[in-house]
Amino acid sequence: MTGTGAAVRVRLAPSPTGTLHIGTARTAVFNWLFARHLGGEFLLRIEDTDKERSRPEFTANILEGLQWLGIDWDAEPVIQSERINAHRAAIQQLLDSGKAYRCYATEAELTAMREQQAAANRAPRYDNRHRNLSPEQEQAFIAEGREATIRFRIDDDAVITWNDLVRGAMRWSGSDLGGDMVIARRAPADQIGDPLYNLVVVVDDAAMVISHVIRGEDHIANTAKQLLLYAALGAAVPEFAHTPLILNKEGKKLSKRDGVTSVNDFREQGYTAEALANYMTLLGWSPPEGMEERFNLTDAAKVFGFDRVNKAGARFDWDKLNWLNSQVLHERSPEQLLAELQPQWNALGWEHSDANWLKELCGLLGPSLVTLKDGVDQARPFFERPELSEAALKQLEVEGARPALKALLEHLPEGPLSTDAAQALLGQAVADAGVKKGVLMKTLRAALLGSLQGPDLLTTWLLLQPSGEARARIERSL
Ligand code: GLU
Repeated sequence: MTGTGAAVRVRLAPSPTGTLHIGTARTAVFNWLFARHLGGEFLLRIEDTDKERSRPEFTANILEGLQWLGIDWDAEPVIQSERINAHRAAIQQLLDSGKAYRCYATEAELTAMREQQAAANRAPRYDNRHRNLSPEQEQAFIAEGREATIRFRIDDDAVITWNDLVRGAMRWSGSDLGGDMVIARRAPADQIGDPLYNLVVVVDDAAMVISHVIRGEDHIANTAKQLLLYAALGAAVPEFAHTPLILNKEGKKLSKRDGVTSVNDFREQGYTAEALANYMTLLGWSPPEGMEERFNLTDAAKVFGFDRVNKAGARFDWDKLNWLNSQVLHERSPEQLLAELQPQWNALGWEHSDANWLKELCGLLGPSLVTLKDGVDQARPFFERPELSEAALKQLEVEGARPALKALLEHLPEGPLSTDAAQALLGQAVADAGVKKGVLMKTLRAALLGSLQGPDLLTTWLLLQPSGEARARIERSL
């Protein structure tokens, strides 16, 4: 199935017209895993030829996002716009060999053509009307002041086949490719206009000696067109692997409406790079028997291959991503968690001078985190005195609840407490007030956190004790 290690060169070719898209990131992961598995090279090409929509800040975001995910590349990224001369030369070669020609059809004529096709219930396609213009006809169009696109001939009876590493034997007919394809935008007839996607990709992949083109299945029709271009340019043909699309719960292509499209969105929602990279690998690939679903990219690279990539679209499963993220967070040390949470806390004005106190707070919250955002929500009552919830207020009315808190308050010292001392105080208060321990614990939680839910109660108390906040909150609820 796979080539030899030394010759493997793959690439990610993102267009910097937006932030790093989740689909692009997943394509990056598969390319990287494949390259690393075979000891090949993983390269980047920034496809910035759409001058209106490409922005340097998007390039920066894409590179930074890949780095964040743990995906490294093996050479300086190729900048596609810097290769315009090579693209033009290839177009000239196709013109010279008669495989491409100038088309003078105006936008209005093309629109009328498509409207007629639609009225006749036919699929839209260019009808190759300017394929065989005589020099006189061309001169007449030029004299009219018409500009020309450059089209590549696609014969209707061409048969295009390849063996896709994911999808197996593929076969396309030239007649299904929409007629002769525009490879350069409209320009005066003595010039070559801006080269277009299918042409530049082939020229660049050939120049970069790419051995395997791994990309989303939305590019399958492009692959058919590109194979014709490889043949016309006499370039060596790479292998192709088309990976399944990422679908939402309803089985539709994941889109803006699903609320998350870019890696940034996941980061902002508190997902870790490890969990996201792990999850993206599982979106379409299944680990071999005996390997757990929780893994890192290096481990996955050891066993990755297209034989375990599905043909069917991969449904996005939030439960699984959440599970992976919680696994990652539960494995974090308090120090690591603190490094990730502290900037977010500080941004909210939450500070504490004692680094140990901060680490203990992380140790307390860690086991219950699903996302890093939970590490903000759940830390809030340790930095801001919370309102009492309805349930908490109700708990304070329970028989014996206030007397138990009062009894505790009577013996409560100032300053820090040990766990043993706190346990002893609880025992004494329960005895003094003559209530069950459960009543006091529940009421103490209501008083300290304003809620009946939360992390370990004793640790919560010990963290709120040194500053006097525990006392203040108990007093408030009395
Ligand atoms: N710039 C194209 C994209 O982002 C690259 C597709 C390809 O890999 O050839 O979709």
